[in-house]
Amino acid sequence: MTEQFNITMYSTALYSTWINVEELNLLIDAGDGLSAGLLAKSGKVKDVFVTHADRDHMMGLPQFLQLNTREGLPRIYYPKNSGSFPAMEGFLGKFDHHMRGAVWTGIEDRQIFRIKNDIEVQALRNEHIKTPIGIHKSLSYKVFRVKSKLKNEFSGLSGIELKQIGTQYGKNYLTEEIRENILSFSGDTPVDDYSRWDNTEVLIHEATFLPGENGEEIISKGNKHSRLDEVMKMVSEINVGSLILNHFSSRYSWKEIDAAVNKYIKFYKIKVPVYVVHPGEVKRNILKSNPLNF
Ligand SMILES: [Zn+2]
Repeated sequence: MTEQFNITMYSTALYSTWINVEELNLLIDAGDGLSAGLLAKSGKVKDVFVTHADRDHMMGLPQFLQLNTREGLPRIYYPKNSGSFPAMEGFLGKFDHHMRGAVWTGIEDRQIFRIKNDIEVQALRNEHIKTPIGIHKSLSYKVFRVKSKLKNEFSGLSGIELKQIGTQYGKNYLTEEIRENILSFSGDTPVDDYSRWDNTEVLIHEATFLPGENGEEIISKGNKHSRLDEVMKMVSEINVGSLILNHFSSRYSWKEIDAAVNKYIKFYKIKVPVYVVHPGEVKRNILKSNPLNF
């Protein structure tokens, strides 16, 4: 079941990208204009996960931190080998003393952070910035809800029997943790490994380029970004609950983008709701807006 998070987002290639998930007090990426776009809602953010150091994904931090830093918050996570983040931390600490309260943490591929009782964020390396394995400069993020579930071996027992076992061995003995991938954000990335997005409820994926006409297609292989048709093909072959397309190049009009997305929805027979964040648009409460295909 898709969770109806209140997601507000801006994303235009080259200019700025940021995503706010209000219920999770979460910001993913921190491009220019995020404070002006979120206004007082920016004050609810506790955790900020930045995908990479390209300026359009991090230059909203100075104003956001100026407004919202308090002791120990917000927590900012960034790819550990991107020197831009420690440089910015150092600068902001001098520029405005109170910004020293923010907590900056460099992170790696596969690292997991519990940001709420039942919510975890996992970092995953992507190939937007080519680096040797072990050097972390560009990450995607997956958000999980952690639930505790009765172990299969106890599923046939009555309430009284379960209570007895619980009293004898402790409640944790009866249950195991399961994780549901409730949200994923590709960050800037070429389409590569389909399996990383399989079984996510809400996939937020970049689609910087549309396929060209007259054969002058932008070849995205070896590119740093995704092309719309590649993303749609991938989505048709994996299990996602809904798709939010973003990070389009501003060379395309909204009309061109919608027409292209509609074309590939039909071509690949996409059955899940598809939402589009157009160039220049602050899109609010996206999952409650009208998808292109329903
Ligand atoms: Zn970008």
